Amino acid sequence: MPDPRRATPRTDQVLADDRLREATGRLGADLVKQSVTRALERCRTGEVAPADVADVAVATLPASATELRRVVNATGVVVHTNLGRAPLSSAAVHALAAAAGSTDIELDLDTGRRGRRGRSALSALSRAVPEAEATHVVNNGAAALALVACALASGREVVVARGELVEIGDGFRIPELLESVGARLREVGTTNRVRLADYAEAVDDHTAFVLKVHPSNFVVRGFTSTVPVKELAELPVPVVADIGSGLLRPHPRLPDEPSAAGTLAAGAALVTASGDKLLGGPQCGLLLGRAALVERLRRHPVARALRVDKLTLAALEATLTGPPAPVVRALEASAAELLSRAERITAALVDVGAETVLSEAAVGGGGAPEVTLPSAAVALPPGLARPLRLGDPAVVGRVEHGRLLLDLVAVPPEEDELLVHAVRRQAGPTQGSPCT
Ligand SMILES: *Cc1c(COP(=O)(O)O)cnc(C)c1O
Repeated sequence: MPDPRRATPRTDQVLADDRLREATGRLGADLVKQSVTRALERCRTGEVAPADVADVAVATLPASATELRRVVNATGVVVHTNLGRAPLSSAAVHALAAAAGSTDIELDLDTGRRGRRGRSALSALSRAVPEAEATHVVNNGAAALALVACALASGREVVVARGELVEIGDGFRIPELLESVGARLREVGTTNRVRLADYAEAVDDHTAFVLKVHPSNFVVRGFTSTVPVKELAELPVPVVADIGSGLLRPHPRLPDEPSAAGTLAAGAALVTASGDKLLGGPQCGLLLGRAALVERLRRHPVARALRVDKLTLAALEATLTGPPAPVVRALEASAAELLSRAERITAALVDVGAETVLSEAAVGGGGAPEVTLPSAAVALPPGLARPLRLGDPAVVGRVEHGRLLLDLVAVPPEEDELLVHAVRRQAGPTQGSPCT
């Protein structure tokens, strides 16, 4: 047996391979070198033949220069915060690529002078919600609310119902966010009930605005009462409504989710929302409402610290003007359609023990905590959960009653084939085919 260590090629010899030279231009020298180094280590241990080192290095190159991995969302949760919330539409992805280089984000190409930053995204938002006199976009929903509190309520009071002091997630709480920018909270009502009179009594010269927060991730039931925006709008101060989900218009499947248009029509002075929940766009915070207030927000020094980049503006515009985003399509998918897709996938995977099952999917971090979406899933042995998560693309399902369910509600139909291949790759060798 020849000593594998002696026969191991040198790093520069391997790097001279045309495919690796090309990859260096695409991925950068460091990532290519790491791949070569790993292949050489396996050659030294005798696991890889010296002649195969370059092939192995090429085969183990990362797909892109980010460690972020593409994931097929088979969790049955349409807006999954841990998976980056809304997947972008292909129109938005194209817009991102177009804006990625130098772009006229803040230049009027006609006059050659400075132009209003993001004007086309803002006008797309205004066209989508004509009820808003003006619009502005910041980094996320929390930033939108922070900017409103900072610009309008620093050193002043925000009147808010006790039942609407919401924790958004990961320990972040809206009341603490408001206080952190210098607003004082004036809490009214009790956990379960609040009346218009409670608000009216609390409103005085110190009041900056009344805040209405949509309970987007919980439900209070029983002996409860809240005051709708329409009634709050009778008070002599502006009403700011944090609607959370970013629905622009009412959605028939989500009757309890407030929309920006409906909330403004009811009399809110300002609406804040996220862009990457039910709107299905990039992470951003939408601000819509009265022109004078939006202008105050836009000119506040903090606005600059919350400014969104050209990529976000491009993706937002394309989400608003392009074909329905994946989140919107997922909310519209019929149970029958999902079932027939599940059956087709199952048919391709019967030999690995796949079965079609009915499932109940959820909207997720985007809102509508009580809504279940009738869906269909491909059930597989639970042992596949981890290998599928570690594959490329990763496939993330959910384990329920001892089975791995790949729920199709949030999987775009174009990814069905990908799903079949991913399962085949992981299941093939361990399960064997029926004829062996
Ligand atoms: C999601 C949500 C937020 C926070 O928005 P981000 O975009 O995550 O910053 C604030 N308020 C409500 C009601 C929400 O649902």
